[in-house]
Amino acid sequence: MDKIIDTNEYYSDCTLCPRRCHADRTGGGTGFCKMTSELKAAKAYLHMWEEPCITGEHGSGTVFFSGCNMKCIFCQNSDLSLNGFGKVITSEELAGSFIRLQEKKASNINLVTGVCFIPHIINAVAIARERGLTIPVLYNSSGYESVDSLKMLCGSIDIYMPDMKYISPESASEYSSCGDYPETAKKAIAEMFTQTGPAVTGEDGLMKKGVIVRHMVLPGSVPESKKILRYLHDTYGNDIYISIMNQYTPMPSVKDHRVLSRKVSDDEYRRVLEFADKIGIEKGFTQSGEAAMESFVPKWDFEGI
Ligand code: SF4
Repeated sequence: MDKIIDTNEYYSDCTLCPRRCHADRTGGGTGFCKMTSELKAAKAYLHMWEEPCITGEHGSGTVFFSGCNMKCIFCQNSDLSLNGFGKVITSEELAGSFIRLQEKKASNINLVTGVCFIPHIINAVAIARERGLTIPVLYNSSGYESVDSLKMLCGSIDIYMPDMKYISPESASEYSSCGDYPETAKKAIAEMFTQTGPAVTGEDGLMKKGVIVRHMVLPGSVPESKKILRYLHDTYGNDIYISIMNQYTPMPSVKDHRVLSRKVSDDEYRRVLEFADKIGIEKGFTQSGEAAMESFVPKWDFEGI
């Protein structure tokens, strides 16, 4: 069995993410993410709306963690990210959720926004593998990650699925309170790619290892989206998957915002996709259909936890 680490060693002076709060999260203290050293999650279930190479026939075994180290003004999961909704569990219980998802034929274990709980995740993966977990483990991230913490995850994670939300510090600062996001995400994705190498897909059409970067097009941001796609393709060619999303949905928090109060227009999304095609992105995914959009925010009911 892989070594079990002492989680409190990391939570007592927390620098797990680029915020580097140095918070003592043991004994109830918190930093920017408002999470103590108690592992919290809200749901573990088969999610059918990821990219086809992630979802597969039976769904992606998706685990939603509480807390977030970003503060996106348009967040669709604010109950979890800002309000800290979730149930306190142990690493052993989390490992049990992984095993139950595998028994339900999940294509993978998909860890959504686990950045605040990286030490617990490392332990849970080790315990679950000891108990027979064999499906790939996927780390689904905002991209705002520390290289040192990603190095800790090396060996625990088979597939990284980071966002690349912004390439301009101004957008990152205004929309997500992190002006250092672009440079931080670039370094994080580089570390992820170093760990996994080029994307590998099995004969069953499912991704086995590699990096799949998601970019959600925002209203009024076509030039920024093009710069992001250009950067990713110039840096990684077709060794990574790029998923270009149009699911942006205005939340009440941005109802009066000058651009974020509306959806992305068909014309904006089409222009971004045409650009992706023009620069030679071959391993790409796109989104279509209103029906899918309804399914992006699950009900938080502690299913599978
Ligand atoms: S995980 Fe939370 S407490 Fe730790 S550095 Fe990041 S925001 Fe701060």
